[in-house]
Amino acid sequence: MLKALLTPLLLSAPVTIVQAAVTVTGPDGKLAVTTDISDGKPQYTVTYDGKTVIGSSPLGFKSDVADFSSSMTITDTLRSSVDKRYTQDKIKHSDITYRANALAVTMKNVDGNEMTVEWQVSDNDVALRYAIPRQGETGAMIVNEESTGYRLPDDTRVFMTSQSDPMIGWKRTKPSYEEFYHVEAPLGTKSDYGHGFTFPALFHTPDGIWVLLTETDVDGYYCGSHLSDFHDGLYTIAYPMQEENNGNGTASPGIGLPHNTPWRTITIADNLAPIVETTIPWNLVEPRYETSRKAAPGRGTWSWIVWQDGSINFDDQKTYIDFAAEMGYENVLVDNWWDTNIGRDGIERLAAYAAGKGVNLIMWYSSSGHWNDIVQGPTGKMDRPIARKNEMKWLRETGIKAIKVDFFGGDKQETMRLYKDILSDAADYGIDVVFHGCTLPRGWERMYPNFVGSEAVLASENLIFGQNHCDLEAVSATLHPFIRNTAAIMEYGGTFLNRRLNRGNDGGTTRRTGDAFQLATSVLFHNPVQNFALTPGNLTDAPAEAIEFMKAVPTTWDETRYIDGYPGKYAVIARRNGDTWYVAGVNAMETPVTVCLPGFIGDNAKIYYDKTTDRMATRTVGKDRTVTIPSNCGFTAVSH
Ligand code: CA
Repeated sequence: MLKALLTPLLLSAPVTIVQAAVTVTGPDGKLAVTTDISDGKPQYTVTYDGKTVIGSSPLGFKSDVADFSSSMTITDTLRSSVDKRYTQDKIKHSDITYRANALAVTMKNVDGNEMTVEWQVSDNDVALRYAIPRQGETGAMIVNEESTGYRLPDDTRVFMTSQSDPMIGWKRTKPSYEEFYHVEAPLGTKSDYGHGFTFPALFHTPDGIWVLLTETDVDGYYCGSHLSDFHDGLYTIAYPMQEENNGNGTASPGIGLPHNTPWRTITIADNLAPIVETTIPWNLVEPRYETSRKAAPGRGTWSWIVWQDGSINFDDQKTYIDFAAEMGYENVLVDNWWDTNIGRDGIERLAAYAAGKGVNLIMWYSSSGHWNDIVQGPTGKMDRPIARKNEMKWLRETGIKAIKVDFFGGDKQETMRLYKDILSDAADYGIDVVFHGCTLPRGWERMYPNFVGSEAVLASENLIFGQNHCDLEAVSATLHPFIRNTAAIMEYGGTFLNRRLNRGNDGGTTRRTGDAFQLATSVLFHNPVQNFALTPGNLTDAPAEAIEFMKAVPTTWDETRYIDGYPGKYAVIARRNGDTWYVAGVNAMETPVTVCLPGFIGDNAKIYYDKTTDRMATRTVGKDRTVTIPSNCGFTAVSH
């Protein structure tokens, strides 16, 4: 191709009418992104180490003002570089350095409408967005559709989860990113509902290259996007369905100009470490406001997960407060129906009782409103600003510092604005926020300082709801560290030590995985606020060493490393908190897998492991340096 032969552009030197290809490479030179125009259509390709990862794929969009996807000419290019360092205590690393080369490619159509394709390319990440200036007198625009596409090599395998039909499921609350995955399926596999697939999505090319697609920097000024079904040899960016949010709000984002679209990111590597360890969703965003109170990471118990709705009463909550105190945990999550079943007076007394034990309450709310049929209370508090601020005033006076808000209406811009409004108001009242029944957070850990978690996964509750989820638990656990949880924090609400998932530990669904498997998920699944699915009975009916482990496990990490694994088969991830390393692994295959421990785990480190799914044990690492994980089992090695 001639593209590679082009003269490199001088730093910051604008060039008029560059009707040719321009390439930007990452700092180590392996990733290369080339932008050009073919027959008036803007397009790009991505190569890694000389191998094509994204074949010629379309760029641009169509708006109510103009078509920015055809009749385009490159009019200007501008090169620069990014070198930034920041700290963050809610994500997989605490001290992050980001270096990238940037290229801005400005294009005009035949009518003179202009936009700029902005690229940032680091060693393993490509980021892309459109910068749209005012179009003469026109300062408001509706973006109707995007051409942005991803043409992966033939015979690529996909690891993707479908976008749901709108207005289906429990009380018509979907989509909420709670679908099964297609695991290592052929390229072009049809989505379950015909609406494409949600971010993030993982791909494995026949050349052995891993590709993770997602997006970040989505706030109330754009919708959340997803991937279309496979068509014309590629996936393209798709906007929400009109029926989401019960039809309220537009599916096409409305923007004021100038405006930058969200960043779409492509993480690319010849092994899984850069996929697991990427920080690209946060490298591209900045905090949107300051808070007077730092967000509080922490561990918690919650009665609802195993004891369900019947436990939302004063006495059972008191039992769970005592249990949290016994575990040394910071929080108790009081789930739905507390307004009716406990009442505000009761909550004030419970909050005071909890405070006496050094425990905080996290209060559940419905996001509410006109987009679903939810009756679980409290409703009507989070969807309107006056009621919301009054509620938050009461929460602050009651000493409550965190809320969980559930059942949102999809990915429309209007819903993205509600997330932001709740976070922004909560910040004013010193309150942290967890979302459930929600969309994927897109850079929010850094954008919103008091954002402390989102579900957006087929989470722990499903293990209670259906035996099929228990049967597939190990497979799911080997996917999330490589896909959902690498792109954003994930409030899974797991780690069960009950054998049977009901209040009496004697009925309901049956857990198929070992106790050490469960412990490992507390490390494999990352969220700065973890509400564990432990029950008070586990203090006596679970192995003492499992309780010892759960008393000590942290929820924040300074470093995260891929050790071993393959999505859908097994996963081994290391995380460091201060000087302590946790290496956690689980195996979903029918046969055992043996993994080597990394050098930073000393010979005297303790290993919590499953001999079988029924028998957990502990030992020290010793000279062997390997751990064999039976099917449906797990381990965690803890350095000291
Ligand atoms: Ca849910």
